[in-house]
Amino acid sequence: MQTALQNDTKAISIENKKLPAAKCAECGAKVYPVSFLKPHLTRHRRRHEWFVMELRKLQETMARMRMA
Ligand SMILES: [Zn+2]
Repeated sequence: MQTALQNDTKAISIENKKLPAAKCAECGAKVYPVSFLKPHLTRHRRRHEWFVMELRKLQETMARMRMA
């Protein structure tokens, strides 16, 4: 009984150590669980798209100012 309990505890601790974490290629953050990496990357992409869009707006504004 005691042996079985110890085995169970050991099995759980090994499982905890093996919990897989994915490393984000964008920011190097460890994302856990691995299934969270996809929404994490989607957030990166959306932020990047927002940044590009804002930059374009700014460039258009600057171009207009130069023309005026
Ligand atoms: Zn990231």
